[in-house]
Amino acid sequence: MTIKVFWDNPYLTELTTTVKTVDGNRITVSETIFYAFSGGQESDAGTIGGYEVLKAEKDGAEIYYTLPDNHAIKTNDIVTITINWNRRYRLMRLHFAAEIVLELIYHKFPEIPKIGAHIGEHKARIDFRADKNISPFLSDLQNAAQAIVDENQPIISAFSDEINQRRYWKIEDFSAVPCGGTHIRNTSEIGVIRLKRVNPGKGLERIEIFVTDKT
Ligand SMILES: [Zn+2]
Repeated sequence: MTIKVFWDNPYLTELTTTVKTVDGNRITVSETIFYAFSGGQESDAGTIGGYEVLKAEKDGAEIYYTLPDNHAIKTNDIVTITINWNRRYRLMRLHFAAEIVLELIYHKFPEIPKIGAHIGEHKARIDFRADKNISPFLSDLQNAAQAIVDENQPIISAFSDEINQRRYWKIEDFSAVPCGGTHIRNTSEIGVIRLKRVNPGKGLERIEIFVTDKT
């Protein structure tokens, strides 16, 4: 099992570790800061041992990294992992903005179920099954989410079950929410949240989430 340093320290951008297995161009490492697509959050971008990581895949508690075919990495090599911090930080800010929006919707509209979510570098989206148009509630929702951001609330992220690698996050006034993504430490890091409603089809509602720096 790869030790996931991105949980305890999601702000680390470089880590030196040992290569555990090499199978063609797929490798595993002892410890990692390189997040692999999971829970809707996209993988990081970056390098291992100087080679670009082409793909990062989570498989149970393990993470497999695909390197270019011409890599020369061997088992037990000491390698440095680097991640693209600008990308990761945008993913973390958008991820938590989506968490806040989702919790607010759960509280206000417990009857509309979430059916999917995706966190990219430039925007996040949450899809719901809903018969009503959520447009009239969007500006209230955006204001409520921004209020939480502006409260500079500390975010707790920890294991709920370390053996089974289950994590949660929590802020004041919300219950603990299960999530294995990478989380910022304070809601203020999100900056400014903007929401947009999209109607992807009958009976469906999509909220797109954008974040920008506070000016
Ligand atoms: Zn999360």
